Amino acid sequence: MDFVFMKNYVGDYIAIPIDEDQVQLCPVCGTSLGGCEAYYADKDPSSEICPGCNVQFGDDDSSGRSDSKYIDEYFQLLRKEWLDRIGWLDWQVGQLRDVLGITVDRENKSVPLIRVADLMKTDRSDSSQTE
Ligand SMILES: [Zn+2]
Repeated sequence: MDFVFMKNYVGDYIAIPIDEDQVQLCPVCGTSLGGCEAYYADKDPSSEICPGCNVQFGDDDSSGRSDSKYIDEYFQLLRKEWLDRIGWLDWQVGQLRDVLGITVDRENKSVPLIRVADLMKTDRSDSSQTE
C-alpha cells in the first residue's frame, strides 16, 4: 500500500493510504473513503466522516494537541477505540494489517504506535512549510 503524506492544520503529518486507483483510505482504520478525500492538497481537512471508524477529518483527528498527545499517539488511541467499539473482529484486524501495515495484539487488546515520521523516512524538520 502506498501512502501520501499530508499536514493537518496544526502541522502534524498524517499518512494517508491510497489504493491503486489513487483513492484515499482512512488513515485511522483503513476503510475506503469511496472517492472522498480525508485531506486536500497538503493541508485542509475535508470534514468528511469515515464510514468505518466515524472519525471526522479535521476534527477528531486533530484534537490530540489538547491533551498533549502527538498525532501518532492520538491515532493509536482512535484505532483502539474503533476496535473496542466494534469488537476486534477478523476483518478489522486484517484491514489494519493489510492497509496500514499495523499488526495489533488481539490477546492483550493493544495497538502499536506507528510513527508517521518513520513511514516518511525523512526528517520532519526538513519539510516545514509556511502556514
Ligand atoms: Zn476510519
